[in-house]
Amino acid sequence: MARRRQLYEGKAKVLFEGPEPGTLIQYFKDDATAFNNKKHAVITGKGVINNRISEHLMLRLHEIGIPTHFVRRLNMREQLIREVEIVPIEVVVRNIAAGSLVKRLGIEEGQRLPRAIVEYYFKSDELGDPLVSEEHITAFGWSSYPEIDEILSMSLRINDFLAGMFIGVGLKLVDFKLEFGRLWEEEEVRLILADEISPDNCRLWDVATNERLDKDRFRQDLGNVQEGYQEVARRLGILPEAGPRDLKGPETMQ
Ligand code: UDP
Repeated sequence: MARRRQLYEGKAKVLFEGPEPGTLIQYFKDDATAFNNKKHAVITGKGVINNRISEHLMLRLHEIGIPTHFVRRLNMREQLIREVEIVPIEVVVRNIAAGSLVKRLGIEEGQRLPRAIVEYYFKSDELGDPLVSEEHITAFGWSSYPEIDEILSMSLRINDFLAGMFIGVGLKLVDFKLEFGRLWEEEEVRLILADEISPDNCRLWDVATNERLDKDRFRQDLGNVQEGYQEVARRLGILPEAGPRDLKGPETMQ
């Protein structure tokens, strides 16, 4: 079979043409980047674990009626997804103070927030994904008021569901990032959850010890990054198909 056409390469994933129109293949790489690309490493097995974790979370969200781009997992590193037009906004939902919130507002790390806080960042590598308000988003036409309302209510629903699911396996969902896409069906446009949900874009702390089991292990040089991601997968009841030796996954794609 001919090699599939590559459409886009991001920091942690590659998108290939899908088997049918309106589909894409999302390939999970082992590359990790942080601090706007200044820090880079390869974490063996990360892509395989994230593919499984994201599949699991997208399927659970689908079960509660959240529309997602996920169709099915194809193999260790690839999943079939629906092609969407990505809304150029990164939506961050926060339950506990960490990361940029701590730096920006001087709130003590680890403090539970009075309520879930939703923030919007404009997707732009050159600008380093700046924080923006609904005013910027609507004035510059990146999204509309009705679409932002839908993004907000879906994000809060996703947060409630995931926070409950993670607490059930002894993990605090500190914060996470979501991306949404537009899907055209006939004349109608529908908003669906896109991208991935994995320890690359969630902060997950152990309930008892506050041990970080997410990308902060990489950002802060805490070591054992792959083991942290693996522990999240284990607690969710997801294990690599053929044990840890399998984590590297296939080197080639068709
Ligand atoms: N996040 C992400 N991609 C980004 C920025 C943030 O996935 O480009 C996630 C990050 O992993 C964390 C949450 O969004 O779970 C909040 O990140 P924060 O604003 O604290 O930024 P950071 O500390 O990552 O600079």
